[in-house]
Amino acid sequence: MNVYDSARMADVLAPLGYASADSPEGADMVILNTCHIREKAAEKVFSELGRLKRHQAAKALTGGRMILAVAGCVAQAEGEEILRRAPFVDIVLGPQTYHRLPEMVAQAARAGGAVLDTEFPVEPKFDFLPDARAEGSSAFLSVQEGCDKFCTFCVVPYTRGAEYSRPGSAVLAEARTLAAQGVRELTLLGQNVNGWHGDEGWGLGRLIRAVAEVDGVERIRYTTSHPRDMDDDLIAAHAEVPQLMPFLHLPVQSGSDRILSAMNRGHDRAAYLRLVERLKRAQPDLALASDFITGFPGETDADFTDTLALVREVGFVQTYSFKYSPRPGTPAALMPNQVPEDVKDARLAELQSLLLDQTTAFNHACVGREMRVLLDRPGRHAGQLVGRSPYMQPVHVKAAAHLLGTVAALRIVSVHPNSLEAVPLETTLP
Ligand code: SAH
Ligand code: SF4
Repeated sequence: MNVYDSARMADVLAPLGYASADSPEGADMVILNTCHIREKAAEKVFSELGRLKRHQAAKALTGGRMILAVAGCVAQAEGEEILRRAPFVDIVLGPQTYHRLPEMVAQAARAGGAVLDTEFPVEPKFDFLPDARAEGSSAFLSVQEGCDKFCTFCVVPYTRGAEYSRPGSAVLAEARTLAAQGVRELTLLGQNVNGWHGDEGWGLGRLIRAVAEVDGVERIRYTTSHPRDMDDDLIAAHAEVPQLMPFLHLPVQSGSDRILSAMNRGHDRAAYLRLVERLKRAQPDLALASDFITGFPGETDADFTDTLALVREVGFVQTYSFKYSPRPGTPAALMPNQVPEDVKDARLAELQSLLLDQTTAFNHACVGREMRVLLDRPGRHAGQLVGRSPYMQPVHVKAAAHLLGTVAALRIVSVHPNSLEAVPLETTLP
C-alpha cells in the first residue's frame, strides 16, 4: 500500500511541476514514505533522515533548497518526535492527508517552521486525488483502508485509522483509467481488502466481477485478505471469474488456537483449515500465501509446533514471516510473558527453512507446465523479458520486445533460486 500511496503522491505533485527523480541528490523535494509495522522499519527512518540531511545541506550550499517530508505510518505515530529529533524536516504527514500535499508544500516553501498534518480527516483523500497514472502493465488499486480488527500485536488500526471502503463506482472509474493506459493486471489493495463493502451493498466478490468486465483487464488479484472476511460470494468468484488469479494471500499468523486467541484474530485453526478447503474446492489450482509471526508473547514450544504442523498441512507457496516485534500502544507489547529474542530467532529460522522447502518444491513442480505470464518488464539481458506467473513467481523468457505488456503463453523449463525460466509456447493457451 505504501507503493500505491507513493505513486499517488507523485500524481498529486505532478501538476505543481514535480517529477520523480532517481536519486535524492540535488532533488527539490524528498518524501520518505514510512512503515511502522515492526520496530526495524521504524528505526530505519531516523538513519535515513541522517543521510538525507546531508543531501539537503549539499543542496543548500549550491543556493538551492530541498524540502524534506516524512509521510506514512511512522509520521502518523511519531510526528512530534520526528520534528524534535530531526528539526530539518519540513513536512510531516500521515497516510490519510497526502491529498493536501500541495498546500503543505506551499506552506513549507513560504514559512519557517515545519508543517505537521497527521489528522484523520472526515473527507476521504481519494475524493481529492487526480486520475491515477499507470506505469507499466500491472497496477495497484486501493479499494479499502484502515482496520477495526485490533489484533493485539498490530499498529495498523492506530496509524491507518478506521476501516474505510471506497465506493464501487470510484474503484471502477480508476480501473478504467488504468486499463485505458495499458494496465492488464490490477491488484486490489486493502489492509483487510475482503472487508471491502461498497456503498451499493456489494462485497468484494461482486466488485471483482465488475472489475473483470472492464475492457483490457486480463488479471485480477487482491491483497491482503483476512480469514474472517472471506464470504461465500468471494469464494465463488474464485470458481467463476477467469481473470481472478489462482493465488491468495491469506495470512494465518500462527497455527496455535491459544496464540490465535491471544492475538485476537477472531478465528481458530480449524476455521482456517475449513476455509482453505472451501477455497480449494472452488479453485483446485489455488496456491496460498501467508504471513507468520514467531515468538508472540506466551508462545510455547507446543504452540510453535502447531504452527509448523499447520504449515505442513496447508502447504504455502509464498510467505512472509517475522519475529514478533513489540509495538508501542498495542496490547501485546504489555503482555507479561514476552519470548526471549534468541527463542524468537530460532523459531523463525526453523519456520523459514520449512517454508523455503515448500516454495522450492512448488517451483520445481512448475517445470514442464504451461503458464500464462504477464510480461511486464525488460530483463537485464538483451532480448529477455520478465513477467509474473499466475502464482506471482518471476519468470524470465527470451521473447520479442513487442510482447512487453502482454500476457504470453509460456512453458516453464527450469528453476533459478528466485525465479523461473520459460520458453514461448507455439500454441495459444485457452
Ligand atoms: N491485515 C493483514 C496484515 C497486515 S500487517 C492481516 O490481518 O493479515 C502485515 C503483516 O505484518 C502481518 O500479517 C503480520 O504478520 C506482520 N506484523 C504486524 N505486526 C507485527 C508485529 N508487531 N510483529 C511482527 N510482525 C508483525
Ligand atoms: Fe493489523 Fe491485519 Fe489485525 Fe488489522 S487485521 S489489526 S491490519 S494484523
